[in-house]
Amino acid sequence: MQLCNENIESIYVMPGLLKFEHDCLTILSRSLLSVAPEEGCALLLGTQKPANNDQKTPAWHIQKIWPCLNAWHPGLMNNSGEEENEVVNHPKKLSKKNRFALDPKDQLEAQRWARKNHLQVLGVAHSHPQGRAKPSATDLCWGMSPGLMVIVSNTEGIKAWWQYGRGPEQHHEVLLVSDE
Ligand SMILES: [Zn+2]
Repeated sequence: MQLCNENIESIYVMPGLLKFEHDCLTILSRSLLSVAPEEGCALLLGTQKPANNDQKTPAWHIQKIWPCLNAWHPGLMNNSGEEENEVVNHPKKLSKKNRFALDPKDQLEAQRWARKNHLQVLGVAHSHPQGRAKPSATDLCWGMSPGLMVIVSNTEGIKAWWQYGRGPEQHHEVLLVSDE
């Protein structure tokens, strides 16, 4: 995954709850799985709501799904300027079926639209058409940390994760609810 960090809000505290409003969960699932067997990706736009009595940290409300093109291509660099082969020596053949990258142009457009509409870009979603709904080793290497990562799986549904480091196991599952 490649991200331009300056285009995503800097939020360093894990949400107490992730709520998908309206039909956002359905839109997310349909748009990401529509490009299967390739991985799909999208940005999650919404607002942070103050914590209530049950939650110590704010709830994040997703109010708009911003579908993006999977812009992955061989030789892509990550945020640290490393080529993927240097980061993960993966025996699998690399393709859009097991990799994704956001196009910086999509991120800029989403950011501009969000600001105009009093929303924030809160996180990134991508799909594992044939895999589990949890971050892969590559996701954890390439993902933005700390940051919110939502994964849509064909078999396991949708799960949300908070990534707090670049190593294995450096993620927590975030409680996910929906209006639907
Ligand atoms: Zn992944």
